[in-house]
Amino acid sequence: MSVVKQKLSVFASLLFAFARNDRRMSGSGMTTTSSAAIGAAVTQGTPGAGALFQLLRDGRARTRADLVAQTGLARSTVAARLEVLLAAALLSPAGEADSTGGRPPTRFVFNPDARIVLAADLGATHARLGVTDLAGKTLASYNADLDIAAGPEAVLDWVAAELRLLVGRAGRTMGEIVGAGIGLPGPVEHSTGRPVSPPIMPGWDAYPVPERLGGLLGIPVLVDNDVNIMALGEQWSQWSGVEHLLFVKVATGIGCGIVSNGVLHRGAQGAAGDLGHVQVPHGADVACTCGNTGCLEAVASGSALAGRLRALGLDATGSREVVALARAGRVEAVQLLRQAGRDIGEVLATCVNLLNPSVVVVGGLVAEAGEHLLAGVREVVYRRSLPLATQHLLIASSRTGEQAGVIGAAVMVLEDVLSPAALDASLTGSAAGG
Ligand SMILES: [Zn+2]
Repeated sequence: MSVVKQKLSVFASLLFAFARNDRRMSGSGMTTTSSAAIGAAVTQGTPGAGALFQLLRDGRARTRADLVAQTGLARSTVAARLEVLLAAALLSPAGEADSTGGRPPTRFVFNPDARIVLAADLGATHARLGVTDLAGKTLASYNADLDIAAGPEAVLDWVAAELRLLVGRAGRTMGEIVGAGIGLPGPVEHSTGRPVSPPIMPGWDAYPVPERLGGLLGIPVLVDNDVNIMALGEQWSQWSGVEHLLFVKVATGIGCGIVSNGVLHRGAQGAAGDLGHVQVPHGADVACTCGNTGCLEAVASGSALAGRLRALGLDATGSREVVALARAGRVEAVQLLRQAGRDIGEVLATCVNLLNPSVVVVGGLVAEAGEHLLAGVREVVYRRSLPLATQHLLIASSRTGEQAGVIGAAVMVLEDVLSPAALDASLTGSAAGG
């Protein structure tokens, strides 16, 4: 288990212990069990309470009998585990089901309002911040310009201050936070949350981001690459049944998040999915910022396209202007986007053969230009990949758009803190500790 994860589990244990004590001390309504019985429920029922909770995360209300039928567990086991989850405020009663004679049975439902999550998607020049509930629903958000090159201290101080304000705007308190998820525009060693030689982030190499931001906010912090969190946000919120998905971000740079078997694939050094520096066949003479020539990013990224439009005498400083020109129907921009799609498709065709995804999502600012880019991608991927790999392959635009990163940053925290193992550990820990 990583250091960061350990911290989260410890924190979660304090958190849910606190919720239980609140309930016990207030003595109010939701649970009718005495504190002694709650203690017994915790020790007997906790292993597996985390697993039972996963069933209820879909938001559907269920009775004890529903849960017994669904899990095959004994009624007493289900009852004990429900008590634990109610005491931690993760579930709440949701009225009564129809009676089949006698007293109508109570139904229980996931309580996403129990706690909140902070999320930040930091790009090279822009930041998106959010506060979500435990179901990943955005409660408040804020977008602002940001210069990532200002360095980690200046940027993280600003992020901490803005997130505090945002918690207030969502009508919540700092004590309700389970953790924060941060996306950064460069490679990140996920287990430590430290950037690894990020090319566009001077001063950030190996910087202890979780320690700094966690120290400022008093909460645990998880960090990942921005494309990985976008892949997570898109898959989790839009393609939840899809286990094999590639998310390609086309913006100032080009990168890819890989979801394989339902899990984000980060690689040994957090550099998996770095499509941008794969060579494309016809780009041999184009120099890339990485020092090589002919990289996909050097010929098909938003900044590459803007440069080509400038050479044609058009006014384009970056991705935004490329998109605006294409939307205005400028044929030069439309043609360049179509060709960029084909270039990306050349590299993606190989990825599709290698990884056999069922969905490829194309997102990032440049993808917002509409169908031109996507048409180019489709044209080449369907022609160049093996028939078996493309038989059921769907190539689609991002549905979450600019929200993908914030959703994904929150999901990264939720999947950690609310996982069966973490919940069991935290609920057991709180029983043992208090
Ligand atoms: Zn390169």
